[in-house]
Amino acid sequence: MVRFTLFGIPVEIQPWFWLTIALLSGALFNPDPAGIQYGLIFILAATVSILVHELGHALTGRRLGGGYPKIVLWAMGGLAYNEGGRFTKSGRFWMIAAGPGAGFILGGLVFLIMVAVFGLSDAANLAGWSLIGMKPTLSAESLEFALNREPLMSLFRSMLWINFWWGVMNLLPVLPLDGGQITQLFVKPQKLVHQIAIAAAVATAVVGLVWRESLFMALLFGYLAWQNYQAMQSLYRR
Ligand SMILES: [Zn+2]
Repeated sequence: MVRFTLFGIPVEIQPWFWLTIALLSGALFNPDPAGIQYGLIFILAATVSILVHELGHALTGRRLGGGYPKIVLWAMGGLAYNEGGRFTKSGRFWMIAAGPGAGFILGGLVFLIMVAVFGLSDAANLAGWSLIGMKPTLSAESLEFALNREPLMSLFRSMLWINFWWGVMNLLPVLPLDGGQITQLFVKPQKLVHQIAIAAAVATAVVGLVWRESLFMALLFGYLAWQNYQAMQSLYRR
């Protein structure tokens, strides 16, 4: 267990977190030196990005509602708790939105660094390649720079991908993701919140499997759909 304090907020990293992130990095499936190097860089990028996301929740929460925030990175990603905080509805909204917001800002900063290194056109090309797999066309100068600095390029690529795509997925209206928690603030009754979550989760699982061929997305969102179905059923049993 790793424990430290950031901006006065206690952070705990549980051992299972590293396993999940290592699985997501793909390094365990490509155990050659290049695969392991990319995997370690991805693990670094994911850990920093998740911490920044949770710090967005925790710092905004402490500012808007007081209380004692705490961050835990565990098997299913990151969690920011706020004990004893008192929130208005808009305060709660901003606390939730600040997580994905912090991630998008971090991704934007990485893009700005890339613009400083490669110029706008080549940076945009590389971002298109990182985010949607577009084939980049680079100037000879940028290409040489990129080919000679593979670890740095892996870092840019993972940082953009994680902060953009995880941010977008996290904003889907599926409890307990941030998007689902925002839905819960504005949609009543609770049954409808779960119905929206089930529909969105099933759609995402299908899109993930068919379009991205991602078993991980299918399993994750299939599980979230099931979890919401269970929670909805338990509403009737009260
Ligand atoms: Zn969050």
